[in-house]
Amino acid sequence: MPFPPLVEPAEELTVDEVRRYSRHLIIPDVGMSGQKRLKNSKVLVIGAGGLGSPALLYLAAAGVGTLGIIDFDEVDESNLQRQVIHGQSDIGKSKAVSARESIAEINPLVEVIVHEERLDNDNVMAIFEPYDLIVDGTDNFATRYLVNDAAYFLQKPYIWGSIYRFDGQASVFWPHAPGGEAPCYRCLYPEPPPPGMVPSCAEGGVLGVLCASIGSIQVNEAIKLLTGIGEPLVGKLMIYDALEMEYRKLRVRKDPGCALCGEHPTVTQLIDYDTFCGAVSTEAADAAAGSTISVTELEHMLKERDEGSRDFVLVDVREPNEFEINRIPGSILIPKGEFLNGNALEQLPAVDSGKQVVLHCKSGVRSAEALAVVKGAGYSDAVHVGGGVVAWVNQIDPSQPSY
Ligand SMILES: [Zn+2]
Repeated sequence: MPFPPLVEPAEELTVDEVRRYSRHLIIPDVGMSGQKRLKNSKVLVIGAGGLGSPALLYLAAAGVGTLGIIDFDEVDESNLQRQVIHGQSDIGKSKAVSARESIAEINPLVEVIVHEERLDNDNVMAIFEPYDLIVDGTDNFATRYLVNDAAYFLQKPYIWGSIYRFDGQASVFWPHAPGGEAPCYRCLYPEPPPPGMVPSCAEGGVLGVLCASIGSIQVNEAIKLLTGIGEPLVGKLMIYDALEMEYRKLRVRKDPGCALCGEHPTVTQLIDYDTFCGAVSTEAADAAAGSTISVTELEHMLKERDEGSRDFVLVDVREPNEFEINRIPGSILIPKGEFLNGNALEQLPAVDSGKQVVLHCKSGVRSAEALAVVKGAGYSDAVHVGGGVVAWVNQIDPSQPSY
C-alpha cells in the first residue's frame, strides 16, 4: 500500500523543466504532479562515497529540488573504483564540493547545500531538520545509530543501505510512517557487532558496481516516498547477492522491546555513539595499552634484526589479498581468524623461546584483537604496531600502494 506523498507539489514547472523531465512526465504514476513534488523535495545524503555517489547523481538527475551533502573527507585515488561522482581531477578535493560540481553539470536546476563537517550529536538535529528524508551512505556503525536515532526523534524516513564485497542490503526505517507499525534500524540491529568482527569496506573490499545496485534502490525508495507511489521498503529488508544475482525481500517487524521505538524506550535522547559501538573491544584496548609501538620504532627494530642484535617475529594479521597489495618487509602472514580459533599459536615461536611477537594489520584494530589472544597465551612482551601498514606506507615507504 503506498503512503501519502511526503511532499506537496511545487506551483509549476518551467518550460525548461518540462523538457528536461519529459520522460518522467509521461509515466502516469509520476506525471506533472509527481515531478512538481520532486521539485519541492529536500533530500539529505550522508556521505558522497560509494553509495552517496550514485544516489546523488540520480536524485539530481531526477529533479529533486534541494540536495544536501554531508562529507568532510577528500577524494582519494582509491575512491575512484566506485565513487563515480568524482573524477581524476578531483583527487585531493573536498568530496562534498566535488559532488556539488558534478551535480551542477548534470542538473543545474538543483540547489545543493554542502555540509563539510563530521556528523555528531551537536549538529545532527539542526542539519537534518530542513530535509524531508535522509539517505544514508555511511559505512560505520556509530554514524548509522546516530542517524537512526536523530531521524526517529525528527520523525523522518531513514533510507539505509549497506555494502560488503558482493552483498548489499537496503531498507527504509520509519517508525512514524502512517500506520505506526514500521521498525527502526535498532529493531533490526539492537546492538552493533563486536568491534573488529566486521571489516569496513576499506578493510574488506567492495565490488564497485554493487554501490550502484544498492544506491539506486535507495534513490528509488526516496522517489516513491516523496511522490507517494508504489510499495515502499518500509518494514522490509532487501538483500542482494551479486554473485548469485538474487534479490530477496524479508519482512522486518517492529520490536516492542526496541530501546528507541519500543514500548518502554531507554534511548530518549542522543547517546555517546563512539562508546556504544566501541572502536576496539575492551580486551583489545587493555592488551594494546602500553604495548603499542610506532612504525618508526618498528623500522628501528627491523634494522637491529637485520644486524643480528635483536630477534623477533613480525606477524601481519590481515587477509592474503591484502598482503598481496602491500606489506612490511620481513613480515609473515597469519590472518586474525587464525588467532581467534587458536591455530595461530602453533605457528608462533614457543613462549619460553624469548622471541618477541610483533603484530600488525591495516590500521591497528585487528592487530589489537589478535594481541589480546597472544598476551592471553603467555606472550607478555608482545606488542602491536599502531596505525599498521597504512602508517608504514605513509611514513616509511611511500613507494608502496595503499588501499
Ligand atoms: Zn526500533
